[in-house]
Amino acid sequence: MKALVYHGNKDLRVEEVLEPETQQGQVKLAVDFCGICATDIEEYLYGPVFISGDAPNPVTGKMMPLVTGHEITGTVIEIAPGVSNISIGDRVALNGVLTCEKCYWCKSGETTQCPDMAAVGFAIDGGLAERIVWRADRLVRLPDEVNSKDAALIEPTSVAIHAVRRSGASDDDTVAIIGVGTVGMLAMQAAKGRGAKALAVDPRQISLDLAAELGADATINPLTENLSERISELTDGVGPDIVIDAAGSSETAALSVDLVRSGGHVVLVAIYTSTPTFDFNSLVASEVRVSGSLAYQQKDVEEAVRLIAEGKIKTRQLISDVISLDQVIDTGFKRMLAPTKDVFRILVSPNLG
Ligand SMILES: [Zn+2]
Ligand SMILES: [Zn+2]
Repeated sequence: MKALVYHGNKDLRVEEVLEPETQQGQVKLAVDFCGICATDIEEYLYGPVFISGDAPNPVTGKMMPLVTGHEITGTVIEIAPGVSNISIGDRVALNGVLTCEKCYWCKSGETTQCPDMAAVGFAIDGGLAERIVWRADRLVRLPDEVNSKDAALIEPTSVAIHAVRRSGASDDDTVAIIGVGTVGMLAMQAAKGRGAKALAVDPRQISLDLAAELGADATINPLTENLSERISELTDGVGPDIVIDAAGSSETAALSVDLVRSGGHVVLVAIYTSTPTFDFNSLVASEVRVSGSLAYQQKDVEEAVRLIAEGKIKTRQLISDVISLDQVIDTGFKRMLAPTKDVFRILVSPNLG
């Protein structure tokens, strides 16, 4: 079958690979859609960082070359023995995170902290391919209300839901989201879904316009407005209870701590490509809590499917284009790296071209 294979830094190839084969407890999917994420581009340009490059991952036993792609929906076409929760023809989204299930963190339910965590497309073959094999108990069936294209954003939605869950946002809270790209936009909707008031901050007007359309209570452009004055006005001079940094620039972590109210909570859901400097005395004085948020858990994927089915999270507006496997680098990466980036998610359909 045809797949996009990561061979190393700036070496991605569309090539013929062996047909994947199911084992006990697994199913084979025909991939319907797979999103291209900023992480895929970072791995192409600067990686392997998260991709298993030096040694096989202990959970999967796999290392590069690997089929890339981690935001996947597919249709079940084959079932191995030992599968009872899924049937042929089911449309599904992947929980793309596998863990050892033996360590302290796995046993205590903090699976995102498993030291051997393996993500699809990073430590095992991913979804930028015609077909993929996956564990049946790590799939979530899509209800009729959720079409497969919208569902390709279930993975970033799960990341956003995990961050909002970690923030503890509830209906008395005001949550400011720094950076309403894909994950930020989904976190904004997840916070609204919990009854919180959401403020969207972004220098890109196209993102702010969409945030307003998708329910943000206020939008702020720091290039044209005084950010701290506007935040102060919108929160009666107190500051937001929660700030979520989904931007990940060198300034936005410290900015988040600056903006949140004293005693509030900052959640960092971005990966910082440069190392921010920080004065920890500001946390001592303000009693602000700062938490990281990595990946997601099975319950986040299930909640993502439910919130999309209920219309509380909308993903359709975040799909900017659908392209073929052959177009990933020349069209997909190029548009996502353009200085005037006008896209949120580009989906790949292996059925095209
Ligand atoms: Zn991603
Ligand atoms: Zn573990």
